[in-house]
Amino acid sequence: MSSKYFDNAATTKVKGEVFNKMLPFFSNQYGNPSSMYTLGRSARRALEEARKKVADLINANPSEIILLGGGSEADNTALKGIAHKYKEKGNHIITTKIEHPAILNTCKSLEKEGFEITYLDVDNQGFINIEELKKAINNQTILISVMYANNEIGTIEPIEEISKIAKERSIIFHTDAVQACGNIPIDVKKLSVDLLSLSGHKLYGPKGTGALYIKEGIEIESLINGGHQEKGKRAGTENVAGFVGLGEACKLAKESINTHYKYLKKLRDYYISQIEQNIENTQLNGSREERLPGNANFSFKGVDGGAILLKLDELGISASSGSACSTGNPNPSHVLTAIGLNEEYAKSALRITFGEDNDISDVDYLVRCIGKIVYELRKDIDK
Ligand SMILES: *Cc1c(COP(=O)(O)O)cnc(C)c1O
Repeated sequence: MSSKYFDNAATTKVKGEVFNKMLPFFSNQYGNPSSMYTLGRSARRALEEARKKVADLINANPSEIILLGGGSEADNTALKGIAHKYKEKGNHIITTKIEHPAILNTCKSLEKEGFEITYLDVDNQGFINIEELKKAINNQTILISVMYANNEIGTIEPIEEISKIAKERSIIFHTDAVQACGNIPIDVKKLSVDLLSLSGHKLYGPKGTGALYIKEGIEIESLINGGHQEKGKRAGTENVAGFVGLGEACKLAKESINTHYKYLKKLRDYYISQIEQNIENTQLNGSREERLPGNANFSFKGVDGGAILLKLDELGISASSGSACSTGNPNPSHVLTAIGLNEEYAKSALRITFGEDNDISDVDYLVRCIGKIVYELRKDIDK
């Protein structure tokens, strides 16, 4: 299927099968999962089936999954939940400079409560340095949180190595795997992570749904207090339709993960080679090898990324720029700054993230459009 949507890291389209699975739970299947009669029990059953499908995607046990309202909530629940539960043990947390705002701003909030946060630097491809991580650990360190893969530049962090270091020192390890889940195979048992965040709308499921994996034996303080739902770790009547959709999206993601990975990688590699062959003065941001299959982030020297974005939009093409300028913030993104791009390169970044609806002809069209736009914008500057 052909599509001009190239912003699948921002959100994805709900799959038809997912939507159809959700529908009954907006109409005749409206029971409350906590009710004991048949209607409630059938909602409970659907919820537990969904939980199993989420667990299966990452090779967790269903009892280790909390269903909640998205990736940001999962990140908040993980960081605040661990910080508050284990504060007697220490007040130090280690994370990185390139995390999603759901992590960075949660850390800022914890700093106000008296927690000390170390924000690790990354190299020019976006990797943390393992030696620096080791050095940052002290006897107050209770938690390490490093994202699985970066949402802007696609760099995949050495999660297994980090996890090993955390384990050797009995420090809890959380990873924000929102961008990785559904795009690359993940096995929490093999990785030995303690907590992992994922989000429904980044893997062709509904917005406002997500999950937090919490390894058996790890405890958290609840963020949302109220009823006994989700074992008291996330109160509130469950979003049954949403979680059914999340579960179905995870099931479909698991079934197709290898073909999906290869398909996205093929589009991405073709796009990268076409851009590099056809447009001068470009630079691929992030790692060439250890990279999300659907992510390609390029800087087009001297051209404003936001301007490219607007011109693409006029052609019906959706993409993302490297700065937060789409949200009214003119500063280059914290990620591009952290990998050491100067302002000229940081402000000229364009993030393309492919999805299952894109095909090779979409890439050809996209490259032609970007080529023309960059050429015109550079001509304007030279005048
Ligand atoms: C999108 C995203 C989030 C936030 O997820 P929501 O479901 O939109 O709250 C967190 N972390 C990363 C890396 C993301 O890409």
